[in-house]
Amino acid sequence: MNFKKQLLQLQNQGAYRSLKILPQGTFNFCSNDYLALSHHSKVIEGALQATKKYGAGSGAARLISGNNDLMERLEYEVSQWKQVESSLLFNSGYHANIGVIPALADENTIIFSDEFNHASIIDGCRLSKAKTVIYRHNDMGHLEELLKNPPHPPFVKGGDSHFVPPLKKGVRGILIITESVFSMEGDLAPLEDLKELAEKYDALLYVDEAHAVGMFGENGVGRLGKNPSENILTMGTFGKAFGSYGAFVCGSDVLKKYLINKARSFIFSTSLPPSAMGASRAALKIIQGREGENLREELWSNVSVVNKELGLDQGESPIFSIKIGDAKKTMALSERLLKDKIYIQGIRPPTVPEGSSRLRLTVSARHTVKELFCLIKNLEKIL
Ligand SMILES: *Cc1c(COP(=O)(O)O)cnc(C)c1O
Repeated sequence: MNFKKQLLQLQNQGAYRSLKILPQGTFNFCSNDYLALSHHSKVIEGALQATKKYGAGSGAARLISGNNDLMERLEYEVSQWKQVESSLLFNSGYHANIGVIPALADENTIIFSDEFNHASIIDGCRLSKAKTVIYRHNDMGHLEELLKNPPHPPFVKGGDSHFVPPLKKGVRGILIITESVFSMEGDLAPLEDLKELAEKYDALLYVDEAHAVGMFGENGVGRLGKNPSENILTMGTFGKAFGSYGAFVCGSDVLKKYLINKARSFIFSTSLPPSAMGASRAALKIIQGREGENLREELWSNVSVVNKELGLDQGESPIFSIKIGDAKKTMALSERLLKDKIYIQGIRPPTVPEGSSRLRLTVSARHTVKELFCLIKNLEKIL
C-alpha cells in the first residue's frame, strides 16, 4: 500500500482532508453547537461537579465496573423528558448507530435506508449484514414501491432479530431508517408519512434525531415528539445541540435489556466519562426549561435572518446547504471566507454524493447580529 500515492490522488481530486485549528477571532459557522451550550456556565459546572465526585474516567465498560448512578440518573431524565419507558446511553451517536442497527437486524432482515443517511447509519447497516435497500431521499412513493416488492434475503439459519416484527413471505423483518433532520441537507424527513408506511408494512422505524433534539418539539424533545408508538425507535446525541458528548436510544424496557446484551459498541467500550454526563444533565435541564425556550427562539430568529438575507429558500433547520458542485471550487471558497474570518467547512464526497460538494452553513442561538451580517456580506461577495 503506497500511502503517499493515495494521498496525492486525493489531493488531485480535491478530496484531501486535513485538520485545522481556527485562528482567534474567527466566526464559526459550521459547528453543531446550535444552542451554544458547550460554553454555558451551568453546563461547564455540571462537568466539573461530576468530575469531582466521580473522577475523570469511568474505568471500564458498563457491564464490568463502569456503571454508576450518574448514568442511571441521566437515562431516567432522558426517559422522563421523552416520555418513553426506557433509554440507554451510548458513547456517541456513531456508537449508537453501529451498535443498535446490527443488534436489530441480521441476514434475514431487510433495511430500507434513505440515500442521504449519515455514515454511521450506513456503517451500522453494513455491520448488520442485512439486505439494505436504498430509497431516494425523502421519496415516499419510491419507498412504498420498494416495500411492496421487497427483495428476498438469504434466510440464514439461526439468524434472529426479535425486535423487527416478522413479515409474511418468510421475510423475518423490516427496518426503515431515516434521519429526522438531514445533517448535510438541512431538510426534514416526512415523519408522518414514514410512520404510516411503517404501520402499513409492519416495519420498525428507526429515527436518528441527532440534529433535531434540543431544537425541535415541545421542550426540545425532537420532531417525533413525546411518547412515540411502539414500533418507533429514536436515537439522539449529546454532541450537538447539547454541547456535550454521548448519545441515547429510547424505547421499551425490554428493548433496553436486549441492547445491553446485544449491542457490541455498548458492551465492548469504556463507558462515558462523568464530565460528559454531568454536562449532558445540565444541558438537558436547560433544554427542557424556560431558558431552552429562549435559546430556541434566538436560534430560529437567527435562522430566519440568514435565510431571508441570502434568499436561500431553506431555513427548515439551522443547517443551510449552499451547493457549489465541484470539490476543489468548494474548498477554495471555504479558504477565501476564512481569510475574512468566516469559517464554513466545505463538504465533499464521500460525505455527500459526487458533484454535490457544498458549503454547509450552520447558525447558532448565540451568533450576534454583527456576526450574521459579516457572514451575509462575505457570502454575497462570493456567491
Ligand atoms: C453527528 C451524527 C451522528 C453521530 O453522532 P456523534 O455523537 O457525533 O457520534 C449520527 N447521526 C447523524 C445523523 C449525525 O449527524
